[in-house]
Amino acid sequence: MNHRLTVVGLGPGQHDWCTPEVTALFDQATDLVGYAPYLARVPAGCTARRHASDNRVEAERAEHALDLAAGGGNVVVVSSGDPGVFAMASAVLEQLDEHPERWCDVHVSVCPGITAAQALASRVGAPLGHDFCVISLSDVLKPWSVIERRLDAAAGADFVIALYNPRSRHRPHQFTDAIAVVCRHRDASTPVVVGRNVGRDEEAVTITDLERLDHTTIDMSTIVIIGSSTTRVLDRPTSCQVYTPRSYAEPRLLPSVAQCREAGASPARYSPL
Ligand code: SAH
Repeated sequence: MNHRLTVVGLGPGQHDWCTPEVTALFDQATDLVGYAPYLARVPAGCTARRHASDNRVEAERAEHALDLAAGGGNVVVVSSGDPGVFAMASAVLEQLDEHPERWCDVHVSVCPGITAAQALASRVGAPLGHDFCVISLSDVLKPWSVIERRLDAAAGADFVIALYNPRSRHRPHQFTDAIAVVCRHRDASTPVVVGRNVGRDEEAVTITDLERLDHTTIDMSTIVIIGSSTTRVLDRPTSCQVYTPRSYAEPRLLPSVAQCREAGASPARYSPL
């Protein structure tokens, strides 16, 4: 009996972005659990039973997977990208936390994958080369007020920001609202990188800026990286790339938290000097 559950990341798309560690697990699995389109990306040679579920039922999917493992299975739960970034690893651990007496004999572990932000960054150079953060714009699991506050703080602190779940059909205005929050702190010329279906057949990558960003091109298959005040576009005869330097030039230094307090301002509201 295995009683084992592993949450794995398939990477964002192409097969060679899935780690050998994850690929090897498929050979030993008895059951695969996941959102149907992600299960479809597991190689056909994997003979484990496939349990496909809808996208919005993370808690139920986690519970089902844990039950299968408790029954003696060697269960693999698949996520796209990295399983720890807005994905199934938290959902599984949340179930364990909520039911401390249940699934006591199930061993749970996590295998990493390339997350969408890293994949897009690599396509254009190194926009994540200095401090960055990732924010999901989905308000299904957290209120919009929290998202707005985090955007404001991250933009004010001059992080490069990668936006996941940026714009759905049900809340198209929220992406525009999010960009308006960022624009409180960033110049209109700040580089923005948009990637749709990165690593998949229909991949499309665009380098633009906050002013020219076409909001209608953004959807849930898209990830958006907004540069910091130091992010630069490197236009060369052979390529156009984006990078964020690893050093902070003196004139752009942010005031310290102590300086902000002295000036009676919230550090998150300060832009670079
Ligand atoms: N665990 C995933 C993220 C899941 S949240 C990861 O680590 O990548 C889903 C969001 O991820 C999408 O709405 C989109 O913003 C982003 N995403 C995932 N795969 C992508 C891809 N191949 N191209 C562009 N964006 C992607």
